[in-house]
Amino acid sequence: MQIESDYYRSRELFVQEAEKSGLRTFRVRVPFESIPDLFIDFALAKRDPERALVQLSGTHGIEGFAGSHVQREVLRALPEGGPSLLFVHAVNPYGMALYRRANGDNVDLNRSFNLAPVRNHDYDHFNSYLNPTSRIGFFLAQPRALLAWLRLGGQRTRQAVASGQMHQPHGIFFTGTEIPREVKLVQEVLRTHLGGVKQVTVLDIHTGLGKFGDELLFVDPDRETESPDYFAKCFGRHTNLEDPANGTYSIHGRISDAFRRALPAAQMRYCLQEFGTCSAWSVLQALRLENFEWKFRPRGTLPTPRVQQAMLEAFLPQNPAWREKVTRLGVERWHQAWAMLQA
Ligand SMILES: [Zn+2]
Repeated sequence: MQIESDYYRSRELFVQEAEKSGLRTFRVRVPFESIPDLFIDFALAKRDPERALVQLSGTHGIEGFAGSHVQREVLRALPEGGPSLLFVHAVNPYGMALYRRANGDNVDLNRSFNLAPVRNHDYDHFNSYLNPTSRIGFFLAQPRALLAWLRLGGQRTRQAVASGQMHQPHGIFFTGTEIPREVKLVQEVLRTHLGGVKQVTVLDIHTGLGKFGDELLFVDPDRETESPDYFAKCFGRHTNLEDPANGTYSIHGRISDAFRRALPAAQMRYCLQEFGTCSAWSVLQALRLENFEWKFRPRGTLPTPRVQQAMLEAFLPQNPAWREKVTRLGVERWHQAWAMLQA
């Protein structure tokens, strides 16, 4: 099966595969602009009332093509019994349909669960570079950003750019100022269908950060002390921490906090499975270009082929070896998480 790069086709195939495997499917509509047919799709199998395995795709819109494909492959050969299963397809359907990372309000759903104001004043040093207001601004803002980078250093620059910001609503990595409806809808489904579980593992598939083809398994020991050990045992390899000193960054308003809040009685273990694509610089160029164009084109319309191509290259590379590895490891981690919950 090949990886689709069309939202509507992806969701159709997801629902087909889930129904073939006997799962109950349902959907919630998240319309934006003039696009009515945007849905978060769910596939549910109620098995063990105390344990559940949840897998998410498309928290970051366009990153959902890889995740959707992994979900279909998992659904094609489900093991019998074990924990209850929930698959969430396209947490951000607008982003997936329109080849962008943020939703229709420009909110980054993995920066949006903010219960306190986010202060990221360093972002302003890079604002004109990240979010140019004219074509010429793409070039003119570069020296200023370069100087700020030299002055602040790599670690602080990464935090400034990508940790999330609340004061530039049209800028990239915008947290929003209230909890977005997609996040609230997923919380509602968790409460309704998995309210009684005592143990839940959540796998959230992303692409775009890290070296080409590398797999990063981000866990959060601040929220779940034993999760690095749990997942290291589960996956048979080390996990990764959001660490600004180590080439990544630590973010505001994680979506995992929303899940934890929705299931307060459960012991939650959340792992963000990230697959590296091209360089961080290339990913940032694609995001700048896409956001610039999105702001100026008619609402609800697709990006130009050039922007669509740049975004797909940044988040779903064509390379067959990359695609094979992402599929294989996506499926393998799900089975490992399933076996660990079974034990
Ligand atoms: Zn992501």
